[in-house]
Amino acid sequence: MYAIAIHGGAGAMPRDRLSPEAQQRLRAGLQSALDAGYAVLERGGSSLDAVTAAVRVLEDDPQFNAGRGAVLTRGGTVELDASIMDGRSLRAGAVASVRHVRNPVELARLVMEHSRHVLLVGSGAEEFALEHGMSLVANEYFRTEERARELAIVRAGSRVSELIPVPGGTVGAVALDRDGNLAAATSTGGMTNKRHGRVGDSPIIGAGTYARNGVCAVSATGHGEAFIRAVAAYHVCLSVEQRGLTLEQAVREVLHERIGALGARGGIIAIDARGNAVLEFTAEGMFRGCRDSRGRNEVALFRDP
Ligand code: ASP
Repeated sequence: MYAIAIHGGAGAMPRDRLSPEAQQRLRAGLQSALDAGYAVLERGGSSLDAVTAAVRVLEDDPQFNAGRGAVLTRGGTVELDASIMDGRSLRAGAVASVRHVRNPVELARLVMEHSRHVLLVGSGAEEFALEHGMSLVANEYFRTEERARELAIVRAGSRVSELIPVPGGTVGAVALDRDGNLAAATSTGGMTNKRHGRVGDSPIIGAGTYARNGVCAVSATGHGEAFIRAVAAYHVCLSVEQRGLTLEQAVREVLHERIGALGARGGIIAIDARGNAVLEFTAEGMFRGCRDSRGRNEVALFRDP
């Protein structure tokens, strides 16, 4: 049994704000990320490679708030956060506030595999990237017209939120491979109009991302501050492992009770050791998909797909 699930962010965007063409483009973007990750699993690759491949596709797709097309800070620049975790060894790698790394998930993986650290930030992370042969890109590479417009709208209403009516949010993937190894990865530009230096839950192991073999792999999206305070991703794993909750119960409890109690909303994707995927959200919609070796293959944007 092998399986992968992905998300492209949870948000408050009403369905009627998205044209059928835009919905179609989003579905196609999700499907190609899902297929990229699934292809890795199908040929016997690792869950780590699968989540890296899927997130990479979503980072390169300007529709999503990660890599190219990420949201803008109040200064109009892009600052990216990402993390990855290997459920087999509990190794993890993360980067935050990077401005010149095309695929932050790959840098997070480099941190995990080639440093003694878990989290590197800003110029230190980029120095590490250069030392390991990654080429850097100008910050303008990430910037799109759509995100510039979105920043202007948010500024006019002086809101600080990713939950506004534009497509494409934070991205993430969770996977189980043929060898029973679980992995999770998350990547984001954070929240529109965020302060320079603000770091959300996505690169925080235990908050936005967590994986433990035999239990589950988790990737979150939503109001990052609440997910950090609720230690959301770890909490899902802990509830499955120690309280005997099903994955679905654990995910629902975190989202509806813990995150809800903090006045926040979002979504979680998770996969357990048997390859069951749960894709749950308390926002209006969550761009998502899952595919497994039993034949499940679906992408969806809103509550009724
Ligand atoms: N959780 C992300 C953050 O707070 C944002 C999102 O998921 O949309 O940085």
